[in-house]
Amino acid sequence: MTSPVAIYPKTGIKVIIVGAGFGGLTAAIECTLKGHEATVIEKAPVFQQLGDIISLSTNAGQIMSRWDSSLVADKLRPICMNHKSFKINTGKGEFVYEQPAMVPSREKPMYNGHRADIHRVFYEYAKSLGVSFIMGKRVVAYHEDPSQQKAWVETDSGETFVGNVVVGADGVRSRARKLVLGFDDKPKSSGYAIFRAWFSVEGSGIDTDPLTKEFVENGDTHTGWLGEDVHLLVASCKGGKEISWVCTHTDDADIDDSWSNPGKVSDVLKILDGWDPKCRAIVSKTPSCVDWKLVHRDPLPTWVTESGLTCLLGDAAHPFLPTSIQGCSQAIEDGAVLATCLSMAHQDSSIKSDAKVPTALRAYQRLRYDRVKAAQETGKELRDKWHKADWTKVRENPESIRMPREDWLLKHDSERFVRRMWSRAVAELAGGEKIPMRSLAAGRDSDEFDVELPPTPLATPKEEIEDPLSG
Ligand SMILES: Cc1cc2nc3c(=O)[nH]c(=O)nc-3n(C[C@H](O)[C@H](O)[C@H](O)COP(=O)(O)OP(=O)(O)OC[C@H]3O[C@@H](n4cnc5c(N)ncnc54)[C@H](O)[C@@H]3O)c2cc1C
Repeated sequence: MTSPVAIYPKTGIKVIIVGAGFGGLTAAIECTLKGHEATVIEKAPVFQQLGDIISLSTNAGQIMSRWDSSLVADKLRPICMNHKSFKINTGKGEFVYEQPAMVPSREKPMYNGHRADIHRVFYEYAKSLGVSFIMGKRVVAYHEDPSQQKAWVETDSGETFVGNVVVGADGVRSRARKLVLGFDDKPKSSGYAIFRAWFSVEGSGIDTDPLTKEFVENGDTHTGWLGEDVHLLVASCKGGKEISWVCTHTDDADIDDSWSNPGKVSDVLKILDGWDPKCRAIVSKTPSCVDWKLVHRDPLPTWVTESGLTCLLGDAAHPFLPTSIQGCSQAIEDGAVLATCLSMAHQDSSIKSDAKVPTALRAYQRLRYDRVKAAQETGKELRDKWHKADWTKVRENPESIRMPREDWLLKHDSERFVRRMWSRAVAELAGGEKIPMRSLAAGRDSDEFDVELPPTPLATPKEEIEDPLSG
């Protein structure tokens, strides 16, 4: 089995990326693979073991399947969940439906695991490709000079980093939104918050308590309990050695500046009062949890500056509710699409050299915006379906409560999509025919989400690697 990894010829495009989350790292990896020069500036001096469970769905997995599998896929598989199904119960513990897990494939893998573990694999892969990292520096100002086709940032240490493109990938509490585009919309409470935890099973009592050992004794499991305005999801990982849970509930508290704050297990148990003793037993064995307020922001009118040399990407452009299970995957799609648009513009002889970067950034926004907006909506849909379930109807049709897996979201190959849509996007930007919504991979009626195209030009196999998933 081949690993289609090859770095394109150098383009001379220098990309300065602010923020080394999954969006920023993917942009850096994809830009490097496509011959651009990527520098990432990250305010954290080192990456800590922060966070808990995160999901990278098959639409992100397709992008990653083109990365060196010995450095990415082979490292992720052992540290990510390998469960057979998702079991859904009512809050009281009545079993309702067992949804088979998606069968992993090499071309369309998905990864669920600890954010810090998966993030480390991305970071190390980016380093191996030669991406430059400036750690421990906070970006405090953004500048552009279209006459020189240059954009640059300043850090709190007074240093300046200059490129042809600047990408604000600085997360849900983005400063780039204000500094770049002038939007100072404070994040609003979505009306919901999540208590979350991840801990080692050893010594916790989960594996010895008859109420809880079923969740870890035979490898990984995934289980949900759904009640009115509350749901609890429990996932075990690494062959049942680690376990995590997320409890989504209504909460109108103010939003502060951190992605999460310490929470109290006793508060979670209050929310789960009267619920299935199994889920209460899991929560009560938890050493500590965090309280993550879910942020809502109205969609931005644009992600790209007037002169087209700076853009936003990932949560900075579009925060997601966790029930969409798409926040990280859409940030990864953004990174791949941006790098591909820069590459397409570079190769497109119909575009004048000083218009190449602005055209790339505008096409990036055009080919992403409606899809992202539609993906954001799915978060509210699933939350409301689970929180407002009519259990009489669900018992008649248990499948109706399943976690949705929609083709337009999960089968989409964002790089192929850009290659296919490029000339239409450029024509529209130049005042030509408008691309219809159905062709923007932005919903159930899309006609462009599952397009098979020839392999990426110039991507020649680097090595032959045996596929552990085949046979
Ligand atoms: C520490 C942390 C833990 C998280 N844990 C989880 C989790 O457990 N589960 C989950 O579903 N999601 C988690 N998230 C959010 C999740 O990673 C994102 O929603 C999603 O992956 C989209 O990624 P992103 O790259 O757009 O943003 P993020 O992942 O938020 O990354 C943004 C990056 O920008 C950096 N940054 C911000 N401002 C500046 C600045 N001015 N200068 C330089 N760098 C800056 C941040 O330090 C961060 O590394 C976490 C985010 C962070 C930062």
